[in-house]
Amino acid sequence: MPSDPVCRIDLEEQGAMASSEYQGKVYWFCTHTCKEAFEEDPERYLKDIAIRPPKTAWWKRFRRANRAA
Ligand SMILES: [Zn+2]
Repeated sequence: MPSDPVCRIDLEEQGAMASSEYQGKVYWFCTHTCKEAFEEDPERYLKDIAIRPPKTAWWKRFRRANRAA
């Protein structure tokens, strides 16, 4: 389970309540509030995590998996 791109909670511990697909990739969220925030402006959150990536094992796997995209 990944991190929430909006509030950056580690969902491996919290559990995910919602998910959203954007440009063929699935993102997970702690709540529907975070999901709605992401869907309103996905680029903002994706840019933010690209600039300040969460330092989790999940993030490293995610970067590797999405490098070709
Ligand atoms: Zn959240």
